[in-house]
Amino acid sequence: MGILDGKVAIITGATRGIGFAIAHEFLENGAKVAICGSRPETVERALSELQVIDEGYPVMGITPDLSDPDSIAAEFQKVVDAFGRLDILGNNAGVSSRTPILDYTADEFRKVMEINVDAVFLCSQAATRIFREQGEGGCIINTSSMVGRYGQPSGSAYPTSKFAVNGLTLSLARELAKDHIRVNAVAPGVIHTDMVDALPDSIIQPLIASIPLGRMGEPSDIANAYLFLASDMASYISGAVLPVDGLSRP
Ligand code: NAD
Repeated sequence: MGILDGKVAIITGATRGIGFAIAHEFLENGAKVAICGSRPETVERALSELQVIDEGYPVMGITPDLSDPDSIAAEFQKVVDAFGRLDILGNNAGVSSRTPILDYTADEFRKVMEINVDAVFLCSQAATRIFREQGEGGCIINTSSMVGRYGQPSGSAYPTSKFAVNGLTLSLARELAKDHIRVNAVAPGVIHTDMVDALPDSIIQPLIASIPLGRMGEPSDIANAYLFLASDMASYISGAVLPVDGLSRP
């Protein structure tokens, strides 16, 4: 018995990194999962990697254009058609930014907001339509960031977008509580993904030394928080932004 038995989840940005770990954790715990990616080839690769772990996993891939409400609705409907329902949406896709203020173009700033904020809104809207039609509640979890609480010294679009994710989380939680739709967020600190692996030791080592729990987070740390918030153990939790950061706060 898994704690997500019978549940169906859609996870955006699930072809690698944190999203892939969330999809894997949900599958291990009994959920049926649709992984979202922007390109069919990366979705196919992620599906193959999951099938190597367990070829019986109930997992499918979808490729919504996260800037297009019609594309999102059509791709989410494929999940309902294949798996019969939808219970959980994980809004995890995101892009980071390190651009200094004077180097930003309006277009670059807007692009970060489009994927990190607008897409969270559009996917939540599409999932809410399905949840309301089913009439049995639902669960939305957003991947925020610790910089959505403290800011960061460059790339201001990124923390700004994560502050907005927290605002959307709290507001949708209040708006959707009457429908028994819970909305929460997980705020990772520094997580060991490809992005972090690409940084030189001279940046990484001081970063790790500054984390009170003495290590970087692993994608599985975030997946565990997602699992808890998606499960019935969290049935009385909504509007929370849960830090998963090893206490690495300025
Ligand atoms: P990643 O770059 O490995 O994965 C990001 C995912 O988002 C990928 O699957 C990518 O395909 C998807 N994505 C990006 N742009 C997209 C678009 N336009 N359309 C569709 N999908 C798109 O990064 P990650 O570290 O796994 O990040 C996942 C989430 O965690 C992001 O929201 C990120 O902001 C957040 N986060 C990461 C860290 C960290 O240290 N890695 C810390 C805090 C928050």
